[in-house]
Amino acid sequence: MNGSLSDREVLIVTDPQLDFCPGGALAVPQGDAIVPKVNRLARRFVHVILTQDWHPAGHASFASTHPGRRPFETIEVEYGPQTLWPDHCVQGTPGAAFHPALDIPRAELIIRKGYHPTIDSYSAFRENDRKTPTGLASYLRERGFERVTLCGLATDFCVFFSAIDAVAAGFATAVALDASRAIDMGGSLAQALAAMREAGVVLLD
Ligand SMILES: [Zn+2]
Repeated sequence: MNGSLSDREVLIVTDPQLDFCPGGALAVPQGDAIVPKVNRLARRFVHVILTQDWHPAGHASFASTHPGRRPFETIEVEYGPQTLWPDHCVQGTPGAAFHPALDIPRAELIIRKGYHPTIDSYSAFRENDRKTPTGLASYLRERGFERVTLCGLATDFCVFFSAIDAVAAGFATAVALDASRAIDMGGSLAQALAAMREAGVVLLD
């Protein structure tokens, strides 16, 4: 990418929150390393949107909500398998805040996700039942956006699911890998990269 980008393009910065950075409740390795890169990338876009993982206490995705379960185990819930996580990004807590060095004051929308107590939401477009919409696709269409570039945390979860759903919603979709970092459990990064390529997502360095 070079030069100024158009009114048809939007950058979506996924979950650049303290709980996903080293020292946070669900730290992504080098999660904080993306912040200067994201700031730089955002300056090249006319339009920027942020997403924010935003769970009520006792959320169904927290291992602590399920007696006897531990973080990173997978359980079956109504909508299928769900990975259990440490408590993270609880509404209004310091860990749910954006990284303080994130410098994108002109971001036009903050889309919060994961606020339904019984449904997790990796994707910025659809929750983990793959049915409940967040409203983002309609927002982007109404604004006239045609191209979406994603970056943020984590490459193999929220960025990945958002990218797949962006393609499904009809947007030309790219992921800026250098401005993203992965959790990478059990080969999840390689799988996510392969699935994104297969779906037609453009993977940028
Ligand atoms: Zn979450």
